[in-house]
Amino acid sequence: MSSPGPAESAVQPSDASAPVRQDFIRQIVREDLASGKHTSVRTRFPPEPNGYLHIGHAKAICLDFGIAAEFGGRCNLRFDDTNPEKEDLEFVRAIEDDVRWLGFDWAELRHASDYFDVYYAAAEKLIRQGDAFVCDLTAEQVREYRGTLTEPGRDSPFRDRGVEENLDLFRRMRAGEFADGTRTLRAKIDMASGNMNLRDPALYRIKQVTHQNTGDAWPIYPMYDFAHALGDAIEGITHSLCTLEFEDHRPLYDWVVDRVDLAGNPDLLASLTERGLPNVAAKPRQIEFSRLNINYTVMSKRKLTQLVAEGLVDGWDDPRMYTLQGLRRRGYTPASLRLLVDRVGISKQNSVIDFSVLEGALRDDLDARAPRRMAVVDPLKLVLTNLPEGHAETLVFSNHPKDEAQGTREVPFSRQLWIERDDFAEVPPKGWKRLVPGGEVRLRGAGIVRCDEVVKDESGAIVELRGTLDPESRPGMEGANRKIKGTIHWVSAAHAVEAEVRLFDRLFVVAKPDDESTGKTYRDHLNPDSRRSVTGYVEPAAAAAAPEQAFQFERLGYFVADRYDHAPSRPVFNRSVTLRDTWATGKDAG
Ligand code: ATP
Ligand code: MG
Repeated sequence: MSSPGPAESAVQPSDASAPVRQDFIRQIVREDLASGKHTSVRTRFPPEPNGYLHIGHAKAICLDFGIAAEFGGRCNLRFDDTNPEKEDLEFVRAIEDDVRWLGFDWAELRHASDYFDVYYAAAEKLIRQGDAFVCDLTAEQVREYRGTLTEPGRDSPFRDRGVEENLDLFRRMRAGEFADGTRTLRAKIDMASGNMNLRDPALYRIKQVTHQNTGDAWPIYPMYDFAHALGDAIEGITHSLCTLEFEDHRPLYDWVVDRVDLAGNPDLLASLTERGLPNVAAKPRQIEFSRLNINYTVMSKRKLTQLVAEGLVDGWDDPRMYTLQGLRRRGYTPASLRLLVDRVGISKQNSVIDFSVLEGALRDDLDARAPRRMAVVDPLKLVLTNLPEGHAETLVFSNHPKDEAQGTREVPFSRQLWIERDDFAEVPPKGWKRLVPGGEVRLRGAGIVRCDEVVKDESGAIVELRGTLDPESRPGMEGANRKIKGTIHWVSAAHAVEAEVRLFDRLFVVAKPDDESTGKTYRDHLNPDSRRSVTGYVEPAAAAAAPEQAFQFERLGYFVADRYDHAPSRPVFNRSVTLRDTWATGKDAG
């Protein structure tokens, strides 16, 4: 009896079986290798550890790590830890966990803070070149001077400070002599530029805060654009892939790389080589692609953070959350997310992917791989009165109808069964194929049963069905092939294990929870029925699952043994996805 969980069978995207991907970024990479512009590819995934990764990040991860793997290159994981107030080691751990879970590994684990000294030296170089100055304007004044999209900005009155004064002030900023917010180091570019990012952007700010990695060593911290561009250059990144919102930052990115000019700076280069950093002169090229957006979700660290902070979900790894930790707990597999990213593709076109594409990727992955089991989530007792009291036998079921390699398992069968309450109707609707009083139905893999009696309590509620098993219809017998309209699943009451079954659904009821045009926010669109917990029964081979093992519970959907709460003695299963897309009709599968 072998039933591999999806986590164990993660497939490296570099497998020979992986599709040859043809998007415009891979096209550029191919050309750069063919032309000899680069001899190898280096990429990086640069998350800010200020929250948990969400499903959008899966796209960036699959692209950054995937390209490196496909072209025999290297991808670094680089934490953008330039904003110490918002960052946390908890997030660092989770991000590392998420990247590995998705099936990737990094060449080098780096932090922007590894390079704080290099950034600092580069900033002094910019000052000496007349490319940067210390500005004493307050944040508010900087805003006033910046101008608008239609009006040019004005030069800071401190823009023409001499090199020596700038160097002196910057060194005193670094020495911690000035209070937070009183000065910045700014690039000297163009206050009249049509691109706001080039209007003398800040390169450094004063922040007297303790950093998770560098402690109190630095009272000043570099700004993202400066640190990121330089980090790429330091690591010899060839293709710096990011989302479209950074398109307007690209001129600043190039400006930083060009003006700092690591290759033309022997001192800086020497200090890098000493630390084993690649001594490459390749200029990194930033390439933007469109973000992954999926309807019925929110995908921003800020909003996901708020859902947690406001107690609207049970934490970052709540199975309804669109964090990678949440999706994982819900039962999404790494392969399903990679499949999603492949199906969505890479382009510069902004679009919103339908939620059914996400669920479809999971169904397709699990349909092929998840072993089948039987479970009953809304139990109704069915007594087979023509079997002797205490009768029990063992049936053999295949684990997967399309994959013989998954083998078989033993399923106990006995006189008393649990069946699904909604597989019985006293007054059947039109087209009903399941059990009715006096009618017959096939018990999956066991035989054909006729319902003889409906037992009710004093309130009129159905408490039990009593029926007869056709002795000629048992597995392997001639009568087993008798034509019968419906087949239902069951578990043996004497052998089944009681289980907590968490029936999850989408977290939001509207397609655009982010849309605030009607004065509502995503909080107003939460699905009140996104989680229902019921007590059901699962066959012993399901209860025995390891945490995170996925199954198809026949006729119910795909379920996963909860990563944290499941134990064979006290099973807990999460519904990952129903068998079909039932959202539009509101009907349950079956
Ligand atoms: P968010 O804006 O969603 O809160 P972020 O962009 O601030 O997230 P980062 O840690 O800066 O999060 O992101 C790391 C990388 O992931 C960046 O290169 C970013 O472009 C990419 N990324 C973030 N969101 C998406 C998305 N929805 N689709 C594709 N890539 C994304
Ligand atoms: Mg961002």
